[in-house]
Amino acid sequence: MWSYYPDLLATPVPRYTSYPTAVEFGEDVGADDYAAALDRIESATPVSLYVHIPFCDQICWYCGCNTGAASRTQRLGDYLTALRSEIAMVAKRIGGRARVQRIAFGGGSPNAIAPVDFVRLLDRILTVFDVSNPDISIEIDPRGFSAEWARVLAASSVKRVSLGVQTFAPQIQQAIGRVQPLTDIENAMASLRLRGIDAINFDLMYGLPGQSLADLDATLDETIRLAPSRVALFGYAHLPAMIPRQRRIDASNLPDHKLRFEQAELGFKRLTDAGYLPIGFDHFALPTDPLAIAANEGRVNRNFQGFTDDDTSILLGFGASAISKFPDLIIQNEKRAGHYRDLIGEGRLAPTRGVMVDADERRRGAIIRDLLCRGRARIDMSFSDAARIAMTEFEQRGLITWQGHDLVVHASGRAYARHIAAHFDRIRGAFHDSGRAT
Ligand code: SF4
Repeated sequence: MWSYYPDLLATPVPRYTSYPTAVEFGEDVGADDYAAALDRIESATPVSLYVHIPFCDQICWYCGCNTGAASRTQRLGDYLTALRSEIAMVAKRIGGRARVQRIAFGGGSPNAIAPVDFVRLLDRILTVFDVSNPDISIEIDPRGFSAEWARVLAASSVKRVSLGVQTFAPQIQQAIGRVQPLTDIENAMASLRLRGIDAINFDLMYGLPGQSLADLDATLDETIRLAPSRVALFGYAHLPAMIPRQRRIDASNLPDHKLRFEQAELGFKRLTDAGYLPIGFDHFALPTDPLAIAANEGRVNRNFQGFTDDDTSILLGFGASAISKFPDLIIQNEKRAGHYRDLIGEGRLAPTRGVMVDADERRRGAIIRDLLCRGRARIDMSFSDAARIAMTEFEQRGLITWQGHDLVVHASGRAYARHIAAHFDRIRGAFHDSGRAT
């Protein structure tokens, strides 16, 4: 049983897919900083690539992604042309000094483009970058997934496919604007497995309108039956002021905080009972999955796609709104697809906002990452006294403990990990540069 302490969860905190977070990005950091960071890449540096496809065949009401309808073929074609140009431009600037280890296609729905366009994109990457035996992954909308796509992914040596599932309950699918019969998921899995792609992830959600514990339990039943190698169980964030498409969702029957907490706990219990290893606070992996192996070896990392076994320190993002990350810089491409196309068309790099990461932020980021990914972090001396004071409430309730200078989050404190980590955030946390508590 997880213990529910609403006072400890009262303050909203980021998901920390990066630190500093996107809220801290400013327009004073842009293309020149990106160019300088690319120029600083040393020979044979491992890098990961992320390619953003901001299109979907159908737009779901709950979705917070930067995506739009794929119905205008001219716009889509122009975007893909720009994307290929950006990939070539960045590769030319790097001049062969980067070794690409991973390539992730996300969105949006990468399968909103034609399979042949996906092949052309991948071909561009393989042609202009130094790539050998890359780990290639892709996000897929099961509603538009065809046998042709499965064949193309297998022929392209794609290793991992992430399926947007969210819920199997038909009435909740209606309520969130994503009607997706169970057979769509079953067919997508069958055709992927038929072609040897077994590394399949399900994205699920709790906290959805009208969703009961029984609804979530039934979705978990189907999930366990279908046995994807990974599951990510996210809490729905209803933010209609920031995400206008969410205004179509009836907010009157959204689960309250306590029910959301119980839903997260139910997901944890059902999936771990079924043999999945918990990764961080919302991912689960079968023991043979590379993410579970990385967790057992203390190698889990966190990036914009969640918990990962990716250990590269440089991520290059391509496409509108894509984020690139370097040890001392996090930077985002222009969000609007049309403006992004214009920048690339003018031969310019596309980042328009970002944040420089100084030594203090790197130190804080490492603590936040370690708490979220590994459940423990070494707290250096300058934070130590203040951290012990700030952690008192968590410690008294048995959610954390201290082992020397290590702050250890107990299994019972997993649901509080982000709130514990947020204390080390320079803006939201309890410590100034000197380490004194505020
Ligand atoms: S298919 Fe995925 S990316 Fe597209 S709108 Fe729905 S949730 Fe968002």
